[in-house]
Amino acid sequence: MSLISSEQSAGEITAIFDELKTLTDEPYKKLKSEIDAKLSKKYGILPGDLRPWHYEDRFFQEAPNTGTIDMDKYFKGKSIEKLAGVFYNGIGLPVDEILKKSDLYGREGKYQHAFSTDIDRLGDVRTMQSIVDNKNWMSTMLHELGHGVYSLNVRRDLPFILRIESHIFTTEAIAMLMERQVNNADWLVEMAGISQKEKEIIRKEGRENRRMQALIFSRWTQVMMRFEKSMYENPDQNLNKLWWDLVEEYQMITPPEGRNAPDWAAKIHLSQSPAYYHNYELGELMASQLQSYIAKNILNQEDASEVCFANRPEVGRFLREKIFSPGAELRWDVLIEKATGESLSSKYFAEEYVK
Ligand SMILES: [Zn+2]
Repeated sequence: MSLISSEQSAGEITAIFDELKTLTDEPYKKLKSEIDAKLSKKYGILPGDLRPWHYEDRFFQEAPNTGTIDMDKYFKGKSIEKLAGVFYNGIGLPVDEILKKSDLYGREGKYQHAFSTDIDRLGDVRTMQSIVDNKNWMSTMLHELGHGVYSLNVRRDLPFILRIESHIFTTEAIAMLMERQVNNADWLVEMAGISQKEKEIIRKEGRENRRMQALIFSRWTQVMMRFEKSMYENPDQNLNKLWWDLVEEYQMITPPEGRNAPDWAAKIHLSQSPAYYHNYELGELMASQLQSYIAKNILNQEDASEVCFANRPEVGRFLREKIFSPGAELRWDVLIEKATGESLSSKYFAEEYVK
């Protein structure tokens, strides 16, 4: 019911995830063995003795920290909301109205996560954050304001019920597209004033980080999607076994021996946001497709993996006209096809991260 009411079908999603699995099989295997080599050295054990708890993140949905640059120093002492304001103004999608109404700084007892919300679908858009002057909050700010500018620029003459994003993953795609800028070396030069020497190191390491993160997250979403699909098809099966079988197959992690407990139930989305998780991965795919389209057709550059939007109002214009403005008047697949000339595909994600 959740899938159908969000205009998706299990067959459609499975087809995309099957394609993505094939594309990532080999590069993931290679990346995973590199990570295992590093981790087994760190812990002084054999790679074959690595178990889920060695991967830093309990679900291995995020990459372990193997980088050498401290990116936080570029944001130390700076105003995160001012930087974001300058960036979004520079692409012609002003956010001053959002920032003015938002609750941006932490205080005791305050909610610790971040979100963006459209209060009235008539321009009152706000974001909740607890800004600290570091890279993480810069990227969160870019992400949440991505949702924010989407809401703000939906056509106001649409009926209330259509005056929202086309789909939950289309707004997620915009948020991810904007968030990716923080790992872009040219963006850091323009926005955070890093030196040319630092720029070259960041270009290399940033690319590697993005690739590692994208591959790891992609394999993790395979586990989530396939677990949910199978669970709803047959809820009476041994779900504990199903979970660890999928973790072993898709993430290539050795399950703990003799374990028979509902570890899957520790993932909040399975109970709180049923049949939802695949949308994060669809958001990634759409972000890559948009990034590639913008690079080639709006900014006229060949390399779509390094795209800097800073001070390019034509990027904002494209997004406003082709993605934001139609709201939910267009179904997500029609929206993507109209904006980029093709239907949603994992091709651009693969071009960006798999090679
Ligand atoms: Zn988001």
